[in-house]
Amino acid sequence: MPFVKASPEAQLRLLELADLDTELARLSHRRRTLPENAELEQLGERAAKVRDAITIADTNLADLDRDLTRAEKDVDQVAVRIEKDNQRLNAGQVSNARELESLQSEVTSLRKRQGDLEEIVLDLMERREAAQALRDGAAAEAEAAGADTAAVTARRDAALAEIDEQAAKATAARAEVVADVPAELLALYDKIRASSGGLGAAPLRRGQCGGCRVALSTVDLNAIRAAAPDEVIRCEECRRILVRTADSGL
Ligand SMILES: [Zn+2]
Repeated sequence: MPFVKASPEAQLRLLELADLDTELARLSHRRRTLPENAELEQLGERAAKVRDAITIADTNLADLDRDLTRAEKDVDQVAVRIEKDNQRLNAGQVSNARELESLQSEVTSLRKRQGDLEEIVLDLMERREAAQALRDGAAAEAEAAGADTAAVTARRDAALAEIDEQAAKATAARAEVVADVPAELLALYDKIRASSGGLGAAPLRRGQCGGCRVALSTVDLNAIRAAAPDEVIRCEECRRILVRTADSGL
């Protein structure tokens, strides 16, 4: 690029442009690194775990319900058989001693079976109660995670709205500044910014480059003193446009 010339006023506008670009980069970085995004990611993992826990608890409850129904039916069937046997015994229908003994022995073993089955039912009911408690706990946790997600989402959206508002202001201000910068100077600024990934222009302050903080040599400072005000100067170190200010120490 040939030597670019621009009025000192236009060069000073570049510093405003650099400030606005820094502000826009800061806002964009803030948008990408909002802590709420990480929080929401964690909340998403938490919600997925809770959903899994609910699915497992529901399957467990369904299994236990099925086992309970079966065990209760078994208890009923045994009770009915005991009742029948007792009726036969009480009605005095059985006179044969051997048959009587066999019937009494059957009632005894049926009572034992009844006791065992009732124990199984009790055990299943206890396990069902525990499973239901787990299910209730998981449901409460899901509700809490949902509430947290809503709160964090609202906080993130508020932060994004604030960032968008600030970015819109900076973008509008940038457009105004850009209108005052000659095309050639703006092209140079943009080229430097693209290659350096940051500032395209920096002020010369007290003999120091505001971009890379390098103190200029006496030779360089003398050359700048001798340069015409409309000559666009570059930092020898970082190649940024070096803008002379009242504070340059020249
Ligand atoms: Zn520099």
